[in-house]
Amino acid sequence: MTTALREASVRDVSVFGDAIAYFNEAADLLELDAGMRRILTHPTRQIIFSIPFQRDSGEFEVYTGYRVQYNFARGPAKGGIRYHPGVTLDEVTALAFWMTWKCAVVDLPFGGGKGGVTCDPATLSANELERITRRYAAELVEVVGPDKDVPAPDVNTTPQVMAWFMDTYSMHVRQNTPGVVTGKPLDIGGSRGRVEATGRGVTICALDEMAVMGLRPETATIVIQGFGNVGRYAAKLFEERGCKIVGISDVTGAYYNEEGIYVSGAMEHTAKFRTLEGFKGGEKITNSELLSSQCDVLVPAALEKVFTPESAAKVQAKLVVEGANGPTTPEADRIFRERGINVIPDIMANAGGVTVSYFEWAQDRMGYFWKEAEVNEKLEDFLLSNLHAIRDIADSRHATLRTAAYTLAIDRVVKASKLRGIYA
Ligand code: GLU
Repeated sequence: MTTALREASVRDVSVFGDAIAYFNEAADLLELDAGMRRILTHPTRQIIFSIPFQRDSGEFEVYTGYRVQYNFARGPAKGGIRYHPGVTLDEVTALAFWMTWKCAVVDLPFGGGKGGVTCDPATLSANELERITRRYAAELVEVVGPDKDVPAPDVNTTPQVMAWFMDTYSMHVRQNTPGVVTGKPLDIGGSRGRVEATGRGVTICALDEMAVMGLRPETATIVIQGFGNVGRYAAKLFEERGCKIVGISDVTGAYYNEEGIYVSGAMEHTAKFRTLEGFKGGEKITNSELLSSQCDVLVPAALEKVFTPESAAKVQAKLVVEGANGPTTPEADRIFRERGINVIPDIMANAGGVTVSYFEWAQDRMGYFWKEAEVNEKLEDFLLSNLHAIRDIADSRHATLRTAAYTLAIDRVVKASKLRGIYA
């Protein structure tokens, strides 16, 4: 794609365009020069390919796969693989862009990447999912690797999917290579604490910010939108810290209980029935009622663009903690700002997952594995030291936590780019 075409598409499209708006705000604060802005608002590499596969019925289908390697200045590209009907090049590019800043904000030696397959996993058998995953991995053999690009789980991709990816890559290169992907099962080089890490990180950041705001865990009420890998563990860990979870949701609807939702009960329900459909631990309400319900802390932990100007205007929470990537549009963010609602941005709030991915990658490379307590202690240290750095920037520059987080991240990436120079 030519630069002009790409710049036009950035203006026209939604998710990546929104992501760039956040970047620009921090770039202004940093007085970043035009050349560096141009470089950092273009992905290094975008790969699109076909994934032909055979259905269990014998029929052939073709899906589309993507991998975007956004930036390599600080290290190999890093980021998950998403299986979802809404996956597009625009979305994957935005997600890879966010990974770049997320890795930098917590000071990991990685660049940013993201992948996806446009498909609906709910309609696929385990065998079909395996065939799609292996073909996806095979298409990327030349461009991924522990020193090139390291995928991980994201929406609808599991440790089992990572195991198939790792095996396919290892078979192609004729060498066992656990470090090509993170989020693997423990038996084949996964890290203790990785499954819970994103939710744990959300809770660590939220509780730290709540302390600053004078919100005590024992009296705080929490609403969590999304009950996947992020939402469920965040809910569990908030509950363990004495907070009351008053609302949860998944694709089947939202469930509200003023007295508190018993999170283990909800987890048992989804283990049995896959979704929260039929959950009796709370009154069934709509998703928009959930987002505007009475609570102290609201955690979007599903997909992008949940907060638009309309939904942001109705939020009653004092603190929004972005467990999902890109849940707030720039217009909604302005409304939060005007209404004095504090937001811990996605690139900080959900960085716990990729931080433990980094620990997994490091453990794989040395072939020595840590106890869970060690993983969790290191995770807390990485998150809190950088959250505190962001808070200091926000205070001294009179900026939001989001702009402060982008400022810290962009500054780190720019330093690496300048030291390396632009190879021509
Ligand atoms: N998909 C997760 C995220 O959005 C984790 C990425 C990783 O571990 O590389 O941060």
